[in-house]
Amino acid sequence: MDFVEQLKSAVDIVSVVGEYVRLRKSSAYRFTGLCPFHSEKTPSFTVHVSKQFYHCFGCHAHGDVLKFVMEMEHVSFYEALKSLSERYGIPMPKRSQYADEDARRRGALFQMHELAQENFRSNLAGPAGEAARAYLERRGLTAETIAAFGLGYSERSGRALTRLMEQRGFPAAWIEESGLAGKRPDGSFYDKFRNRLMFPIHDEQGRIIAFGGRALSKEDEPKYLNSPETPIYKKREVLYNLHRAKDAIRKQDRVILVEGYMDAIGVTAAGFAPVVASCGTSLTGQQIRSLKRHSQHIVVNFDPDAAGGGGAERSLDTLLAEGMFVRVMELDGGLDPDEYCKQRGAESYQQRLEAAKGYFYWLADRARAQHNVHTPEGVVAVLKSLLPSVQAITDPLERMAVAENLADYIGVGRGAVLETFRKAVVDRRETTMERPKENLRADERGLLEVLLSEAEGREELVGELETIEVLDRVATRRIYQAIRALHTAGGAITFDGVNARLEENDQILLAEALLSEDAETHEVNTEYGRRCLESLRRSEDQFRRAELKAQVKQAERAGNLAEALRLSEELIRLERRGAARA
Ligand SMILES: [Zn+2]
Repeated sequence: MDFVEQLKSAVDIVSVVGEYVRLRKSSAYRFTGLCPFHSEKTPSFTVHVSKQFYHCFGCHAHGDVLKFVMEMEHVSFYEALKSLSERYGIPMPKRSQYADEDARRRGALFQMHELAQENFRSNLAGPAGEAARAYLERRGLTAETIAAFGLGYSERSGRALTRLMEQRGFPAAWIEESGLAGKRPDGSFYDKFRNRLMFPIHDEQGRIIAFGGRALSKEDEPKYLNSPETPIYKKREVLYNLHRAKDAIRKQDRVILVEGYMDAIGVTAAGFAPVVASCGTSLTGQQIRSLKRHSQHIVVNFDPDAAGGGGAERSLDTLLAEGMFVRVMELDGGLDPDEYCKQRGAESYQQRLEAAKGYFYWLADRARAQHNVHTPEGVVAVLKSLLPSVQAITDPLERMAVAENLADYIGVGRGAVLETFRKAVVDRRETTMERPKENLRADERGLLEVLLSEAEGREELVGELETIEVLDRVATRRIYQAIRALHTAGGAITFDGVNARLEENDQILLAEALLSEDAETHEVNTEYGRRCLESLRRSEDQFRRAELKAQVKQAERAGNLAEALRLSEELIRLERRGAARA
């Protein structure tokens, strides 16, 4: 067995996907969850247990466990293989044919970040780190917290880390690509981060992929300096602290979103584990989807001065558009989350957390504060200001429910204003990703199921496929061709084997055939396969009869009576055979 097959047979796709997506068992052989590849509120992402593949009925993302890891982590085939073999303790062949340049380079970038991390941490503990330690003490961070978050300090000199990387023999091109060093006109390198408090930034698997550096003296600009985009760091996809928080996010089924590193650290240290930070920029769809895989419930806890600011509002809109359930948490006293936890204590923060208002009530409160809802004009203004956000809700039923609740909340009676609001809410233009479905016949689907699941049925029936011409006309014809080709070539007929011979569209068709609701209602065995096969054969006669009738007519019209007669006789024979069978 080749290593890829060996790995795939040893690793369960359900548990791998389950690390990223909350899956629910929905039948004997399938699990469903919210698709990590597109925005949705009702699960259409499905994992087939026995065939070990995933398929999304919404966006048609599909593949095997390796493809899933590749797409989820944006890595090459080799890296997906490596990552799975490490996670599941299946040793990889030494001089692997799968290693490629790209993977080696990315591997080196991870190593350079590890090296930088060691360096920053030891700087912080040493004499050079005195000012940084003093700052952390002022901010009330304990030694445990500093260690847990891997905080460090980058030296003032400006060559220390670069020299280390050179000594370790990393090629100049890779050092430049790491984002940890800058290049002078003469080609020499210098440290990008100098005299800064360093926050390592991890990917969801806990690997360090970038750093954020906070200036320690007022002269140093900017206040926060972040790693640039690199082959291992895509800003738009990363949330600070997600790798530490994700288990708690799942357990509590909610996530707290704060703005900065210090907020995430302070809130975590106060005992609230499910917290991530957006780090200043407004949230992207990718970031939100990486949260949604763990929970759909988010409590937004931005700085008091930022709430209502452009970035925060854009983030809120994106959250709604991605189908998250959003609540907004407000802290009094103009304190940011970190300060609030330190000054008022964890219990008080907990109370504010529980008191967080649903996003729309929060919005309505703000609008009410700006307009007089005792006048009709005021009510119209409030509803108008709420409309865009309500319309951003993707699910029509929920959109309607929110609109009704808001009308109640604001105290709008059943009048023309409310009707206008309702109508505007319903009229949202839907964008659908539905692909026109090819209708699968129950028999072609059933036979496929037996051929790919049942060794006994396969042996008995596969040889007869050649004799059923109608299989060249059904929607799944190319799948049947692939099965026949494998059979002729003497290969094993497995889901993977067949799937590998198909084009994208037919792979989707196969996935959907095997996941169809029909599949639940029959016992998959040889006898069922035989019934499907006979049904196909019968329909073949119907096809042939229709074809013959058309040919007879054509021959008559062409004046070719001998041919017409010959075809008619064939047609009569066929009809007798059909009658005898029925
Ligand atoms: Zn999808």
